[in-house]
Amino acid sequence: MLRHMQIRSKAPSLAGWRPAPRFVADVMLGRLAKWLRIAGFDVLYSNRFADDELVSLSLREGRILLSRDTRLLVRRSVKQFIFLESEKVEDQIRQILQATQTFDLPGLLTRCLACNQLLVEISRDRVKGKVPPYVFETQPNFKFCSRCKKIYWAGTHREAVLRRFERLLQPLP
Ligand SMILES: [Zn+2]
Repeated sequence: MLRHMQIRSKAPSLAGWRPAPRFVADVMLGRLAKWLRIAGFDVLYSNRFADDELVSLSLREGRILLSRDTRLLVRRSVKQFIFLESEKVEDQIRQILQATQTFDLPGLLTRCLACNQLLVEISRDRVKGKVPPYVFETQPNFKFCSRCKKIYWAGTHREAVLRRFERLLQPLP
């Protein structure tokens, strides 16, 4: 509990990131990292990052360190961070959006969920044979990760994802 108090008392002001806050997430936060990437946020994540790496990535690249690990966050070298109070991803996202005063998402499906790279448009004829035939017939637009070669399309859950984030972007009463 003492560590919690120390961490809360050193919590930095994180408002005013333009165009959008950038993050590095600790090894426990794979699901959160994926959801932030879905919304288009730049999030470094690996389940092999050591604590020292997390801290140095945060400092070197100006990224907000996301963690629930009080022993990590209490370190003197940790400056920009959010101590996530909840284990639930929705609560975590809401806390992050509020702490950074973020009211717009960078953009759904703009970033690779596997490796964080920005996606680029790719023409339909270039994905023929590389996606399921039904997807090829029904989807007008495709995007491509130049790093890990994954192909993305909007799919049917896009609306559901949008609604979920819209709910989270509403400030709490
Ligand atoms: Zn990728």
